[in-house]
Amino acid sequence: MEQPSHHRLHVLESIGWKDAVITLLEPRSPYRPWRGGADEGQQSDTVAFVLNTDPPSILAEVSHVDGPRELRQASFSPPPNGATVVDSYTLSSELGFELRPGRFDGDDADTVEDALYQHRYDWDPGLRLGHDDVSKVRTLLRFDGRCDGCNQEIDLTRPDARDQLFVHTVDAQMQRTSRWLGYPDWPAVMCRHCRDRMADEGHETFVDYKFSLNPSCPQCLGRRAREIFYGMPSDHENIPPWEEAGGCCPMSDKWSCLICSTTW
Ligand SMILES: [Zn+2]
Ligand SMILES: [Zn+2]
Repeated sequence: MEQPSHHRLHVLESIGWKDAVITLLEPRSPYRPWRGGADEGQQSDTVAFVLNTDPPSILAEVSHVDGPRELRQASFSPPPNGATVVDSYTLSSELGFELRPGRFDGDDADTVEDALYQHRYDWDPGLRLGHDDVSKVRTLLRFDGRCDGCNQEIDLTRPDARDQLFVHTVDAQMQRTSRWLGYPDWPAVMCRHCRDRMADEGHETFVDYKFSLNPSCPQCLGRRAREIFYGMPSDHENIPPWEEAGGCCPMSDKWSCLICSTTW
């Protein structure tokens, strides 16, 4: 006979969603943005994270409590790679109830976790279009430690990390007009320097700004050089317009011109 599940899921809610995303990306962050749930968890408990975005959003991953400890410091080790969120309307309609801070036991905990895992791979770039909070969170969660513009490291352990990290959002109606000419714009995470420089230089899109940082083509002198990377891309959909998959065998070419197809 199947044993009843004694699994427990704690639900925490953030009081500042940007700080909260920073703690998910960098467990050593000094921020303490989580409230709700019990004070301490037990081994094998899990923790779900609700972000106070508008509408609220829920991380499509749970962290595992690895011993008695304070739940509000629960974090991922290592941080979730490519995690995303599901908005509360979607999750509520699937669960039949709203996920609020507190505790779920046994089958209820399993049901919530299963529903969250269904959204684990909601990586379509279209889900990051729009100027709403949920799109911003999805873009921030893809931050890999470096500015998408200048590639400088942004240290999320700093107390002022929230003021060093900026999300460039893109109109939801902006369609992928032409892959040949590159997508017109792309959601990105920028450092303060790039945010200011992009505005000062009058670039209307992040893509335009990013290409302005890359070298001009030696053949046509255009400013549409994509950086070539080698190796098997795991996620074709999310190759940004300023990068190009060069195949598995590394070659000497580092740049490829979108205008005249020259590589160098
Ligand atoms: Zn930068
Ligand atoms: Zn060219």
